[in-house]
Order: sequence, then C-alpha cells, then structure tokens
Amino acid sequence: MEFIIVILIPLGLMLLGAGFLVVSQVSGFLQSSALNRRQQLSNMIIQQYMVQIAMAQSQISQRGRQLEVLSSKLALSNQELGRLNDMKSKFLSMVVHDVRTPLASIRGFSELLLNKNVGEKEERYLKNIVSSTDQLGRLIADLTDLAMIEAGKLKVEKTIVEYADIARDILPGISINAQKKGVDLAVNELPVNCPVSGDKFRLSQVLMNLLNNAIKFTPAGKRVELTMRREGKFVGAYVKDSGIGIHPSETKRIFEKFYQAKYQKDEKLRKQGWGLGLSIAQEVVKAHKGEIGALSPGLGKGSTFWFRIPAGV
Ligand code: ADP
Repeated sequence: MEFIIVILIPLGLMLLGAGFLVVSQVSGFLQSSALNRRQQLSNMIIQQYMVQIAMAQSQISQRGRQLEVLSSKLALSNQELGRLNDMKSKFLSMVVHDVRTPLASIRGFSELLLNKNVGEKEERYLKNIVSSTDQLGRLIADLTDLAMIEAGKLKVEKTIVEYADIARDILPGISINAQKKGVDLAVNELPVNCPVSGDKFRLSQVLMNLLNNAIKFTPAGKRVELTMRREGKFVGAYVKDSGIGIHPSETKRIFEKFYQAKYQKDEKLRKQGWGLGLSIAQEVVKAHKGEIGALSPGLGKGSTFWFRIPAGV
C-alpha cells in the first residue's frame, strides 16, 4: 500500500503532467504553424499589391512624360495656328482695302454714264454694273467687319440713342426693297421715350440685316412685320415673316459665320448671300450685352428673328 502511495501516485501524476505538456506543445505548434501560414499568405498578397502599385506608378510616370510631349506639340500647333490666323486676317483686310477703291470708281463712273444720254440697252447694262458693284460692296463691308471681329477690333461706339431711331433711319430704304419684291412691310407703332446706350450705326445694321433677310426669304404677296418694344429692363425688336421658314435643327447654326441653311432648297436665294450677316449681327448684339435668336415653326412656315439689348442709359 505504501508502495502505491509513495511510488505509483507521483509516477502517475508525473506521466499525466508530461502528457499535458506534450498535448499543449503539439497544439501550440499546430496553432502557430496555422498562424504562420496565414501571415505568409497576407505577406504574399501585400507583395503582389506592392508590385501592382509599382507597375501602375511607372505607367503613370510614362503617361505623364507622353502627356508632356503631346502638350508641347499642342502648344507648337497652337502657335502655328495663331500665326496662320494672323496672316489670314492681314490678307483679308489687305484684299478688302484694295478692292474697295477700284469698286467705288467703277460704280462712280457707271453712274456718271447713266446720267448721260445713253441708249436703252446701254442703260440696262450700266444699271447691271451698278447693282453688281453694290452687291460686291456689301460683301466687302461684311468681310471688313469679319476681319475686325476676328482681330477683336470691332468698333462699337456707344452714345445715347432713341431706340426707335435705329429703325427710322433705315425704313425708307427697306420699304423700297419690299416694294420692289412685292412684299408687304408692316411696321407696328414704334416705342417713344425709350433711350438706350448703343452704337446707332451698328444697331441699325443689325435691324437692316434682319429686315432685308425677311424680305429676301419671303415670296411676293406675303408679309413682313416689324415690332419694337420695351420689355422691362430690355428693349426688343422682332422681325416676323411669312417666308420659307427654317428647319428646327438650323435655327442656331445660321448664326455661324458662312453658314447658310441646308434644308432650304432655293439655290438662287442662297447665291445672293454669303452667310455672314447674321454672324456679324450676333457680334454687334453681344457687344451691347444683348441676345439674338431665330424662331420658326418649320420649313415653309415663316420665321421670327429677334434681338434684345438692355434699356436705359
Ligand atoms: P445670307 O443671307 O447672306 O446668306 P445671313 O447670315 O444673313 O447670310 O443668313 C444666314 C442664313 O440664314 C441664310 O442663308 C438663310 O439660310 C437663313 N436665313 C436668314 N434669314 C432668314 C429668314 N428670314 N427666313 C429663312 N431663312 C433665313
């Protein structure tokens, strides 16, 4: 009995302890190796990310260098474009200047001859010469304006102007045009006591362009109507015609320079113009801090051209 107590129990306890030790060591080992594997996996993933980041960084710096090359090329082309544009503007104003003088003399001499006693045929020819020089003269004037607009030198000399006067001065000439074409020109009551700060010559030029266009694009027997009125802080002008109308896709485009509506099929009418008048009108209205636009219910249904500028001085 003593033997059991003295030898076997401590021996048993020792074996039990040793067993525990072995089990705990083995499970610790297993746990730490699982942890290590997870750690290694995360390290691998991190390394992969780092490689990808490094690659992306090198691509970004490569693209950055390409972008620098492209932007320096762009700067060079811009410089070249600016130079060519300057050349074009100088060429334009040179041509315009050199054509204007001989044109005036052709017109002058033709009128002189018209006042002499010439035969019927000669009179017809001379009248043709005068009307052709007038047409060329209008083109030259438009090209002069265009050259000035492109050089940023469009002259707008503002004074205090009675708004209705911009129409009064041009209406007699426009009425003659309308009569010749057989178009009925109606002018609604003009506003009174309505001063504006503007360039009278330029504003008349805008209105004249809208009225002449309306007469040009309206068939004989139909009507063109002018309304000018005060509209709160603005003054507006509306030129309504019952002419060939405009396709909805072109009511904005016709204000671009050299643009003529493509859906309108009348070649003869197109050839009478250059597509410059409205673009010049737009610049003049912009210089007065105003707005300009066109409305049309569609082809064959007439149009209304309008502009408005701030009222008051
Ligand atoms: P142009 O009349 O000399 O061609 P504009 O710049 O004055 O140049 O007009 C541009 C275009 O806008 C015209 O060619 C025409 O197609 C269209 N347009 C202008 N006014 C009218 C109008 N009253 N009715 C229909 N189309 C018009």
